[in-house]
Amino acid sequence: MLINFDRTVAYRCGSCGEITYGDFSLFELSGGKGLSVECSCGHSVLKILPENKTGFKVCVSCLVCDEMHTFSLPFQTLAKKECTEFACPTALVGLVFIGKEAAVKKAVMNNESYVQEVISSCGLNHTGKNGITMLKALDKIQDLSDNESLFCECGSNLIDVEIHEEDIRLECCLCGSSITISADSIRGSNFSHLDKLVIPSKQ
Ligand SMILES: [Zn+2]
Ligand SMILES: [Zn+2]
Ligand SMILES: [Zn+2]
Repeated sequence: MLINFDRTVAYRCGSCGEITYGDFSLFELSGGKGLSVECSCGHSVLKILPENKTGFKVCVSCLVCDEMHTFSLPFQTLAKKECTEFACPTALVGLVFIGKEAAVKKAVMNNESYVQEVISSCGLNHTGKNGITMLKALDKIQDLSDNESLFCECGSNLIDVEIHEEDIRLECCLCGSSITISADSIRGSNFSHLDKLVIPSKQ
């Protein structure tokens, strides 16, 4: 029997949202050093590190939560399973896929179409790779609005929200003041931790 020691890992970059692939051999992990795969955008790294005698931990920054998630990966699972999938615990978006190349590619494709379905069911099917970021931002804006923490400097809290491919535009329905927030700045800032959002008035 021919044993295949080659494995592929794919992960969703917590910064740009793209799927990044890396190939490695089980031998590379046996030395106890672990390995890392960097996204081509240069802003995120997936790490597979020894956790204990029988397994590894997989660390990745999450696009949805803006924080690191750590998953346990027993060596037996890595050695035997075609593909192991780790999802964000809060949003069920697939973050890491590890296993044999063909199975990993298939799992990534399945997850991408699942994510697209969720995104289009929210009416955001034109947002492309920013889909998850926009969903998350919309959820946050809804949250702020529910807590009466979204308003315009003029005093109005009637705010119109427009989602575009690259940015979100918030416009005051009363005085017409607006702000535009890009997907990049949503990812690169503490947007999901804002406790209020105020639109500066024109005057
Ligand atoms: Zn990236
Ligand atoms: Zn998460
Ligand atoms: Zn206003």
